[in-house]
Amino acid sequence: MARTRKILRSSVNRALNAIGDRWSQLILEEAFRGATRFEDFRARTGAPRNTLSNRLRSLVANGIFEQRAHREGATRQAYHLTEMGRGLFDSVLIAWCWGIRWDEVSPNGPAGLVHSVCGRSMLPQMVCDHCGGDISLHSCSHRPGPGAGFEEMEVTRLHRRRQPGGGEEAARPPSDVVDMTGDRWTGMVISTQYFGIHRFDDIQANLDIATNILTDRLRALVANGVFERRLYEMSPPRYEYWLTKKGKDLYPHALALLLWADHWLADASGPPVEVIHNACGKLVEASVVCSECKVPLEPQTVAERRPRERAKT
Ligand SMILES: [Zn+2]
Ligand SMILES: [Zn+2]
Repeated sequence: MARTRKILRSSVNRALNAIGDRWSQLILEEAFRGATRFEDFRARTGAPRNTLSNRLRSLVANGIFEQRAHREGATRQAYHLTEMGRGLFDSVLIAWCWGIRWDEVSPNGPAGLVHSVCGRSMLPQMVCDHCGGDISLHSCSHRPGPGAGFEEMEVTRLHRRRQPGGGEEAARPPSDVVDMTGDRWTGMVISTQYFGIHRFDDIQANLDIATNILTDRLRALVANGVFERRLYEMSPPRYEYWLTKKGKDLYPHALALLLWADHWLADASGPPVEVIHNACGKLVEASVVCSECKVPLEPQTVAERRPRERAKT
């Protein structure tokens, strides 16, 4: 039997369990761009056949895709996003936005976005459904929800830093959002920051993470500018880890996943964490809107500029 670890219950973890690794996230992006057939996913993501069929199978099993005959009476299957799957568009938009804003555009990500409703270049922006105010790490606070507590998670789920073309523990530090959330430990180390946990020993205790893995992830997060170190003891020198501005800007992405999981993957005990929007005092419900005209964004109204086009503008 696989070894398990006791970790804090988290809707973000539930979401990442359902979405899966980097390949699955690339598949999801292509689905929002209109891909439905196996061969289209293969051509666009570059995933090996076996990998692609595994990931599609688990995305179907997790309720994110449904299979339908490609045409009436055809034997070939097409993969369509379910309503649950379409609910992940907000998190994809926020990941794209972060990449554009911080110049961490992944090879498959857009270098810019245009909203077809207003015709303007824009960035997706997360706003509160109750008061319309901006959602950020500073405008929200957290409290334990009715489902707070610990849960068991399989170690194998957490251990891999899977990347296309590289083995586990590939040398390149995760840089874009897909990389970071595709590596579960990286996502979990970042999330400790939202709860004010900054010291190595405290992070280690909260995640039950091996020290070498934690050291590796912290080094990568400092290298890519998501964390900064702050000296808090002189001899021997000890450091706290704090989110930089770039790191704090990842918060709406985590929140988009949390809200999605609370809606689609809730268990009977309720949400593990409740998020309050400070401006209005209500439990956060959020939408992702166009920064220019404030209309909620949909897959059909968002046009992408791809990285190779960037030089022209
Ligand atoms: Zn509000
Ligand atoms: Zn607009």
